[in-house]
Amino acid sequence: MPEKIQSSDRPAGRKVNVILIGPPGSGKGTQATLICERYGIPWISTGDILRAAVKAGTPLGAQVQALLSAGALVDDTLMIDLVRERLARTDTAAGFVLDGFPRTLAQAAALDVIVGATPMRAIVLEVPEAELERRLTSRRICTRCKTLTTSRSLYGSEEELCSKCGAVLITRDDDNLETIRRRLEHYRTLTEPLVAHYRERGALATIDGTRQPAEVTAAIIRVLDSPA
Ligand SMILES: [Zn+2]
Repeated sequence: MPEKIQSSDRPAGRKVNVILIGPPGSGKGTQATLICERYGIPWISTGDILRAAVKAGTPLGAQVQALLSAGALVDDTLMIDLVRERLARTDTAAGFVLDGFPRTLAQAAALDVIVGATPMRAIVLEVPEAELERRLTSRRICTRCKTLTTSRSLYGSEEELCSKCGAVLITRDDDNLETIRRRLEHYRTLTEPLVAHYRERGALATIDGTRQPAEVTAAIIRVLDSPA
């Protein structure tokens, strides 16, 4: 049996604090779900945090509401406050998977302070751009029940029907090649400094995201179960 790492600071065992980074089409959502199930920790996305804050009507939520209704972006300071508040909740006792945060180096530095001495792992799902383009352009959504599926026809030329309800499948506007390339470039620009930040701290693990989802999950678990 592997020796368990325990200290007086962490009597309940090792926390699993994960930052999940991956481009659109990398299967990040699937992996986040599986990791959270495995460790019994919450999946915390910035979108969910913002929606919850607005709904709860907290002072921070009121600020978010004001910015969003003005069509403005939520700035670093406010986003950091929201994440700090969220991570203080008891359901993060065993850890968390953060998705969509940090997005800037200022946010990353603030997160380092929030988690303190608790080890944190940044997991990057790596998938070549050509493969991401192939995956994203083959995505289809049902016009009736909104189920997402993958096109079976190579160039999407044939009309396909939903396997659940029989309605016509269409490509979402976001899934055309031009938009996809723009999103991937945006992702690269955004994540390169963050990846460097976590690499410098020795907290980065890159995972080959081209394999089957179960193999990707197994690779992530190996990283998370290894001593930090
Ligand atoms: Zn359908």
